[in-house]
Amino acid sequence: MTAIVVLGSTNMDLVAYVPHAPKRGETVTGREFRTIPGGKGANQAVAAARAGGDVAMIGAVGSDEFGTRLRRTLVSSGVDTDLLRTAEGPSGTAHIVVDDEGGNSIVVVPGANGSVTALAPGDETLIATADTLLLQLELPLSAVLEGAEAARRHGVRTVLTPAPAQPLTPELLAVTDLLLPNEHEAAALTGIADPHAAAEALLRQVPETVITLGAAGSLYAARGEAPFTVPARRVAAVDTTAAGDTFAGALAVALGEGRPVPEALAWASAAAALCVQRAGASTSMPYRPEIDEAA
Ligand code: ADP
Repeated sequence: MTAIVVLGSTNMDLVAYVPHAPKRGETVTGREFRTIPGGKGANQAVAAARAGGDVAMIGAVGSDEFGTRLRRTLVSSGVDTDLLRTAEGPSGTAHIVVDDEGGNSIVVVPGANGSVTALAPGDETLIATADTLLLQLELPLSAVLEGAEAARRHGVRTVLTPAPAQPLTPELLAVTDLLLPNEHEAAALTGIADPHAAAEALLRQVPETVITLGAAGSLYAARGEAPFTVPARRVAAVDTTAAGDTFAGALAVALGEGRPVPEALAWASAAAALCVQRAGASTSMPYRPEIDEAA
């Protein structure tokens, strides 16, 4: 079984379902409210575990009730949380508004995630056992960089989702094997709106990139190879929260199993398409048999 370590965030998602997102100064009456375990790190960990990976998570939950539930969710999806710290204080929270078209807008308050500024004893030993280290930008960048450098030292593939979008340092790019932005993050990183041109610019900094394009699928580009796109499945989107994280988790599993890149991308697209047809983050992620059946 392919071994994956996730160094990333855990957040409790506080989700309001509304007809349309409120503009500044506007109050909108929501249809429904839910608390759903999420955070880009935890989402990728749950997605990878359900997709059949052997997954461990490094990060922190808070000492509040949300923290207990966040850890329990990871454990119940089969994620090893032995090195997931409990930090004194509140857990991370994400305040999410989902509109009737399945679009979302999000405010993240880091909470316990902010305490993860460096690797802790044991983290590097765990990373060294993995095929792939999955990283995002919801932890302090100092820890993200330390994790990626540790992975590089041990020949572990690093997959970085550059979200929330922010400038990346040359040090972090130098230890990134696969950069996995969505089209908005790719545009923010490069200043180029066209995904093909953005991918070309990113390849000057990393050897391989996948830009996800929402309902338009994904674009793969690697140095010295012709780029290609993989279409998304035609499905009715209910809630696109965590589509990218589901894609990332499933892709890591498929690549770790040594499957060819086009096949791995098609399989990750099938997983993400299942995710967007259901509400929530971890609640919406598919298990391997469903992905195999849909792929
Ligand atoms: P993020 O969730 O990070 O914004 P995207 O919106 O680009 O990422 O979605 C990631 C992947 O999820 C896409 O490449 C696609 O395969 C799948 N996906 C997203 N939205 C849809 C949709 N409406 N229908 C089918 N698949 C989708």
